[in-house]
Amino acid sequence: MSAQDDQLAFAILRQMDIAIFRRRGPWRYELFGTPPDIFTKFFGLNDSFEEFWTRSDMLDFFIYDVEDYFEQGMTGGISSGVWHETGQDQKESSFLAYVLEISGEQLFIVRVMGEEYHEKVRILQRERVSLLDRRRLTVDLNEYKQKSRRDGLTGLFNRATFDDLLRENMAISGKTGASLSLIMFDIDDFKNINDTYGHVAGDTVLSDLGQILLTILRQEDAPCRYGGEEFAILVQYTTQNQVTYAAEKIRSHIANHQFGALSRVSVSIGCSTYQPGETAENFINRVDLALYEAKRNGKNRVVVATVKTEAV
Ligand code: GH3
Ligand code: MG
Ligand code: MG
Repeated sequence: MSAQDDQLAFAILRQMDIAIFRRRGPWRYELFGTPPDIFTKFFGLNDSFEEFWTRSDMLDFFIYDVEDYFEQGMTGGISSGVWHETGQDQKESSFLAYVLEISGEQLFIVRVMGEEYHEKVRILQRERVSLLDRRRLTVDLNEYKQKSRRDGLTGLFNRATFDDLLRENMAISGKTGASLSLIMFDIDDFKNINDTYGHVAGDTVLSDLGQILLTILRQEDAPCRYGGEEFAILVQYTTQNQVTYAAEKIRSHIANHQFGALSRVSVSIGCSTYQPGETAENFINRVDLALYEAKRNGKNRVVVATVKTEAV
């Protein structure tokens, strides 16, 4: 480029309110040509461009990223930044800063944007804030929904969720013929536990039980706190033989578990398999009757209410 071309190029850049800095090394920038008027007015620069970025809080902040960017051999995450701020003359302006490398020259460019861009930047930033707020709101809502699906003490699904899941699973079973089984159990002599060790110890037994179920059951099983000290577990794709095995596994695991200082905790279990076409009430009643038979037969045992089903 001839000296005349240089003059022309800088004249154009001045029109565009662009200041170009050449990076000479870490934290060392040198002005390339002359800065545009608005740039000098805004940053209050006179002769010295040393550490020019310290004249602006935002630029000062941005320059750390720029330094990382160059030091890491252009592999960093940033190449530009946009912000607006109030200058020395109390006027607000928008800035666009970016970095690039041309023929081995590391360049840092700061551009003062026109009034119309300034307004756009403001709108964009406002949009971004409200987008973030909305996103946060969605996350909170999901958390809330998640919480209201579960019982606080045990961490298991609550009764309302159980009712929904039972209906959903019965519909799937009706359509596909997949086996669906239900296990219900009630803690034996829980009143005694409360009376002997106190209500708080009783609560601990309930929450420990919740943890045990979440640990020993399969991911797709749905353990719920059905009532005070009663639990229900929906076990999908599980036949009568399989649910009998699962119920026995739960019973023996609880009977052998050491619940703090308690001498012994046991449960009585009823279980059965869904018969396509029957109502939820019918299904639950059958399992409930089996549970009470387990109580009558001496507790700490499993009773299966058998039905004629085809194994799937
Ligand atoms: P059974 O072997 O026949 O089931 O005897 P049980 O004593 O367990 O049966 P009962 O229904 O007479 O007593 C249940 C007790 O469970 C009474 C109630 O105070 C207690 N209970 C229910 N919900 C909670 C709870 O959230 N925390 C505690 N600590 N106790 C509870
Ligand atoms: Mg009970
Ligand atoms: Mg009980």
